[in-house]
Amino acid sequence: MTATTAAATFTVRRGQGTPAPALPPFGQFINGAFVPPCSAETADVENPATGEILMQVPSGSVEDVDAAVAAAVAAKADWAARTPKDRSSLLLRIADIMEANRALLEALEAANTGKPAAVAEDDISSAIDTFRFSAGAARTFSTPGAGDYAENHTSVILREPVGVVGVITPWNYPLLMAAWKIAPILAAGNTMVLKPSEQTPLTTLKLAELIASEVPAGVLNIVTGPGRIVGNRISEHPDVDLVAITGSVGSGQKVAAGAAGTVKRVHLELGGKAPVVIFDDADLAAAAKGVREAGYWNGGQECGAACRVLVHESVAEKFTELLVREVSEISVGAPGAGDDVEIGSMISGAHYERVLAALEDVRKDGLTIAVGGHALAGPGYFIEPTVVTNVPAGAPITSTEIFGPVVSVETFSTDEEAVTRANETVYGLAASVWTTNSARSLSVPRKLDFGTVWVNSHLVIANEMPWGGFKGSGYGRDLSVYALEDFSRTKHVMYNHG
Ligand code: NAD
Repeated sequence: MTATTAAATFTVRRGQGTPAPALPPFGQFINGAFVPPCSAETADVENPATGEILMQVPSGSVEDVDAAVAAAVAAKADWAARTPKDRSSLLLRIADIMEANRALLEALEAANTGKPAAVAEDDISSAIDTFRFSAGAARTFSTPGAGDYAENHTSVILREPVGVVGVITPWNYPLLMAAWKIAPILAAGNTMVLKPSEQTPLTTLKLAELIASEVPAGVLNIVTGPGRIVGNRISEHPDVDLVAITGSVGSGQKVAAGAAGTVKRVHLELGGKAPVVIFDDADLAAAAKGVREAGYWNGGQECGAACRVLVHESVAEKFTELLVREVSEISVGAPGAGDDVEIGSMISGAHYERVLAALEDVRKDGLTIAVGGHALAGPGYFIEPTVVTNVPAGAPITSTEIFGPVVSVETFSTDEEAVTRANETVYGLAASVWTTNSARSLSVPRKLDFGTVWVNSHLVIANEMPWGGFKGSGYGRDLSVYALEDFSRTKHVMYNHG
């Protein structure tokens, strides 16, 4: 492949200044109210598009977690005894409250993450829909009918809540990832303790404030603080029956290890490095547009991002040209700079440095940066949308999750090679296949080791369908009725009628 490069110049568009976001109260949300934390330690929460400190939140302790778990234990019998109709009504009321406060939640999410208006709007819409879907699912979720499988004995399967569920969420979609857990966990009749990411706790705390008068005390508890203290205590706590984390592989491993001591169930939604396999018969313009959207959505800080292109060698040059043109047009900006801004800032100074270090490695490895590749002028942590080409099989960029606005392009010669190379990753979260050949569109997805495979699309998510990975991306499913299954347990009761 010859090197296609573009001398695009990116600048950070700044808004006219956004109104100060409505911040949540200070405190841990335990037993239905914001309460003072057990320790005086606090942590700054930053706006990564400006570097400004938005507020301080408690840097929680083991004692805070213990108080939250005690509240969840006390609330569990009553919440488990509610009918699906009751639980469903609560989830619908939460969705309505979020809808009524949509602008406030979008502005707060954008301020805490630096994401553009379009992404914040999509996050809040999807979060609202997760509550609505789970409200419906709560009422239709059932088990097989009773039957006789042993002589004179009738078997009945009861579907029960697990009990107290601990949840640990990441920073990339703070409220959406919280909604993906809160909605099915409460729908299935559990009570819970949730720890948001230290960087992005604000919308989760705000949601707690907005719905506090609706949710029975103790059913939902939020504790802010570091993963190694608060997250670790949730994982190890003897009264937590299941722990679910969305985060990196390393954090997932620590949570699973912490959970092993009490043999609690574990639900892991971890990292990804999604291959985008483009065959010679693909609609190349559609594929390039697809990668523009799905590779750079949320600044590429997305576990299913279309970040690793594998394109057939005969169309690689044409595709790369189209992709470079698409990416050169991406608009970078701060929240408030307009609805057409496509990518915002990285989440933090530390993450910005990590992404820039990955770009340095790309240069050291002798790969071509076809467009982008640099930091953008501050304030805030902005990086140019970047395409890396001339990437040989096995180069580090093909397997490392950069989690930034960086897409790499490799080539392949045969279908078999495409499948083998796409599967050569520790991750197994998502992949896409681009082809107009119907036989390929049927056969290739079956050979790919990923929990979601799109055909001629990437990163389209529906609340009715499961989301989750294989291999290093973890196990357990978010969304769909499979999430309700994961957050409940089956009990067999057998009646002797002989
Ligand atoms: P992270 O692993 O650094 O943090 C995630 C959460 O885990 C945070 O709340 C953190 O405080 C907590 N944590 C850290 N160490 C812990 C420990 N020892 N015990 C318990 N909790 C601990 O991840 P991040 O940087 O916030 O998010 C980015 C990662 O999340 C990426 O790898 C991304 O792919 C992944 N992610 C996956 C999905 C998915 O659906 N599979 C969705 C979003 C993000």
